[in-house]
Amino acid sequence: MARLNENYLNVKESYLFVEIANRVSKFEKENPDKPVIRLGIGDVTRPLPPIVVKAMEEASADQGRADTFHGYGPEQGYLFLREAVQNYYKSFGASIGTDEIFISDGAKSDTGNITDLFAQDNIVLVPDPVYPVYVDTNTMDGRKLIYMSGNAENDFLPMPDPSVHADIIYLCSPNNPTGAVYSKEQLKEWVDYALANNAIILFDSAYESFISDPSLPRSIFVVEGARKCAIEFCSLSKTAGFTGTRCGYTVVPKELVFPAADGTEMSVNKMWLRRQCTKFNGASYIVQKGAEAVFTPEGLAACHENTEYYQENARIIAKTLDRYGIRYFGGTHSPYIWMECPGHMASWDFFDLLLNEVQVVGTPGEGFGENGKGYFRLTSFNTHENTQAAMDRLASLMEKHFK
Ligand code: PLP
Repeated sequence: MARLNENYLNVKESYLFVEIANRVSKFEKENPDKPVIRLGIGDVTRPLPPIVVKAMEEASADQGRADTFHGYGPEQGYLFLREAVQNYYKSFGASIGTDEIFISDGAKSDTGNITDLFAQDNIVLVPDPVYPVYVDTNTMDGRKLIYMSGNAENDFLPMPDPSVHADIIYLCSPNNPTGAVYSKEQLKEWVDYALANNAIILFDSAYESFISDPSLPRSIFVVEGARKCAIEFCSLSKTAGFTGTRCGYTVVPKELVFPAADGTEMSVNKMWLRRQCTKFNGASYIVQKGAEAVFTPEGLAACHENTEYYQENARIIAKTLDRYGIRYFGGTHSPYIWMECPGHMASWDFFDLLLNEVQVVGTPGEGFGENGKGYFRLTSFNTHENTQAAMDRLASLMEKHFK
C-alpha cells in the first residue's frame, strides 16, 4: 500500500480566502443591487509596461524561427537576466555574483522548495502574523515551528530573543500582511543572531520595490555578515506586475557552507543548483526576456509609475484612517495597510460589518495568525476611484457606529 505523507494532516485548511469568497458571493447573490469594492486582493491590477510586452512579443517571434528558436534554457536562468538582476542589486548597494542568482517562476515556489535543502529536525522561527506559505511548507515536511510575536508594541517587527535558539528564520520585509519594514540596524541584529546560532535567515523581499526611503534596506545583503547567513527571495510579481506572467529570483551566497554530520562541507549554493537542475527546467525564455526588459531604465521607470499609483491609494486609505484616529501599520513602503479594527472588534466581525453595511471587502487579520486577531488588512491594489469610494464608505460606517 502506498503510504502518504501524513504531515499533510497537520496542514491547516487554507480557509481564509475561500471563506472570504464565500461570504462575498453569498452577499452579492442576496444583494445584486449593491456593488462590492474589494480592498482585500493581494494581486496587482496595473498592466505590464509596454517595453516588457514588446520584449515578450519579440521573444515569441524568436521562438517561431529556426535561427532564433530556444529550447531548454539553463536551469539557473539565462545569463542576460542574471546580469540584469546583478546590476539591479548594485543600484541599491548589494554586491552579488551572477552564479549566486537563480531565476525561477516566482517567490512562492522558491520559498516552498528551499525546504528541500534542510533536515527535518531544524527549529524554524516564523513571525506571527505571517505569510502562510512559510508555515504550511514546513508543516508538510514535519518540521517544528516556533513563533515570534509581531504586535503593536514592536511595530510588528519582532526582534531576536537571545534566549531562544532557532536554526532557520523567516523574515519578510516589507511585510505581508503588516506592511512593516525593518531598518538596516534591525536587520543587523538579526544577522548577528543568525551568525551566533549558526542559523540561516530566509529573507523574503517580494515587496522591496515599494520602499521609497533610500535609508531602508531593499535587500538583506546590504547588511554586513548577511552573506554568511542569508538566502533572499524576490519576485517580479509586485515589482513589475508579473503575478500572472511568473518570474522571480533567489540569491544564495557562496559563503553559506555548513558541515555535515561527518564533517563534510556542504555548500547551500551548490545544493540549490543541484536541486533546481534536478527538479526544475528553467523559467520560460519569453518570460525571461520580458523580465530583462523590466530592469532597463525605461522598464524600471514604468514599474515605478505603477508602484506610485498603488502608493497613492495607500495614502488615500491612510488619510481616512487618520481622520478617524484608527491606528494602522504599513502603507508607506508597502501596498498593505494593517489597521486595528475599530471599537476593538474581532476581525471577522469587522469583516461582516464592512461587507454588509458598506460593501467593502478586506482581509481579517486572524487569517495570518493569532496576533492578527483584532486587525484587518487593506490593500492598495484597486483603482484610485474604487479606493476613494471604499474610504467614503468606511467614513460613513465610522460616523454611524463609532462616533
Ligand atoms: N512572498 C510574499 C510575502 C508574498 O506576499 C507573495 C505573494 O503574495 C509571494 C512571496 C509570492 O510571490 P510570487 O508571485 O513571486 O510567487
